[in-house]
Amino acid sequence: MSAILFREVEVDGRVLDVRVRDGLVDRLAPHLGADGASDSVEIVEGNGGALMPGLHDHHVHLLALAAQLTSVDLSGVADEAALGEALGAGPRVGGWVRATGYHESIAGELDRARLDRIAGDVPLRVQHRSGALWMLNSAALDRVAAQLDHSPDVERDDSGRPTGRLWRYDARLRPGLPDVPPDLAPVGRLLAGLGITGVTDATPALEPGAIQLLGDAHASGALPQSILLLGAQTDAALPSGLRVGPRKLLLHDHDLPTYDDLAATVRASHGEGRAVAVHCVTRHSLVLTLAVLEEVGVLPGDRIEHASIAAPDVAAWMAALGVAVVTQPDFLRTRGHDYRREVDPGDLPDLYPHARLLSAGVRVTPSSDAPYGALDPWQAILTASDRPLSPAESVAPAEALAGYLSPPLDPGGRPRQVAPGAPADLVLLTRPLTEALLSPRADLVRSTWVAGHRITP
Ligand SMILES: [Zn+2]
Repeated sequence: MSAILFREVEVDGRVLDVRVRDGLVDRLAPHLGADGASDSVEIVEGNGGALMPGLHDHHVHLLALAAQLTSVDLSGVADEAALGEALGAGPRVGGWVRATGYHESIAGELDRARLDRIAGDVPLRVQHRSGALWMLNSAALDRVAAQLDHSPDVERDDSGRPTGRLWRYDARLRPGLPDVPPDLAPVGRLLAGLGITGVTDATPALEPGAIQLLGDAHASGALPQSILLLGAQTDAALPSGLRVGPRKLLLHDHDLPTYDDLAATVRASHGEGRAVAVHCVTRHSLVLTLAVLEEVGVLPGDRIEHASIAAPDVAAWMAALGVAVVTQPDFLRTRGHDYRREVDPGDLPDLYPHARLLSAGVRVTPSSDAPYGALDPWQAILTASDRPLSPAESVAPAEALAGYLSPPLDPGGRPRQVAPGAPADLVLLTRPLTEALLSPRADLVRSTWVAGHRITP
């Protein structure tokens, strides 16, 4: 079907007909009914529901999300007994159990000995909620013995024996894991159902094999969304539908780069004409990054991932530099309980700030950081407007939504529009927008299209 006629849809507050042809928005007018009708035109009755550009999630981890869908989710687990039960009942992929979302509030620090006691001898790997730490039992450690290097990332006891705690080890661990490629089709379906037509994958240093998996899934239609990669090489020849975005720089907070090293890295990326996306989750790493950007200069597209703690003066600094922020308001809901306990009370007002960034003039967008945060953008929009912590930083649902509508390469910039010539990456809601935003929910999404092809059932 190369043409679609949307009848009676709401676009920017007006009820119109919208014609799509060859993957692009072609015409908008109050009544296109007559000249649009023919056998090759699909008619979609909008009944006054909003037709908008599809949402773009500006920070997500696609392969980790695919893996999570065949993993044990520990985020709702309360104690050690429930942990043992959940791990015991978990699906096995290639003989292994994989669990994600662990936090010490469940059963304290985990190492091989405790995991052996809790979960026995099925190879098991448990990821910390931060995404930075894997905890393996003995059966799993035996199988990956060849992958364990002598860096401090492999925690060892006094006798030099690995404790099972592996830091930032995803890429190094992979060769020892069962070779079962993650299925991306469920991810594509989930995204489509939420009205998401594009994503930015924020995984640093993606390997060619990982990029190939994403490319194949895109080409087959399993993952129809457009994909911007922060972790691809600048000169990588990418499969169609995938593009290189700013370069992701992951700053390790316990081991921050020196000012000079970070400046050299940013300069090198800018020298290739490539902006940077710097992971900053502490006051210190954010200030370091901004100081470097101040000296090196800001390239359009430079962005801060998370900006987890940012005081008002830092917000003003980011505005002056012109650097964008990709934030995750929904962490305040899913992690609020832990933040209240763990974050210095003096820092709470500065935690995932939002309103102050907008009013300072910073371009800012919410995003999911899925699977480390919840994927649902409508829930994030709701949390952004109804924050369980620092309510003074709440923003109106329409402002939060605007971030999801901003262009992939300009997060927090001017929202994309349903206008002639624009790609027909579209989402149709069951209600007019103002009504929908009174109570944002994923079930307001009726259908989603990418390049004029319907990607929802
Ligand atoms: Zn992330």
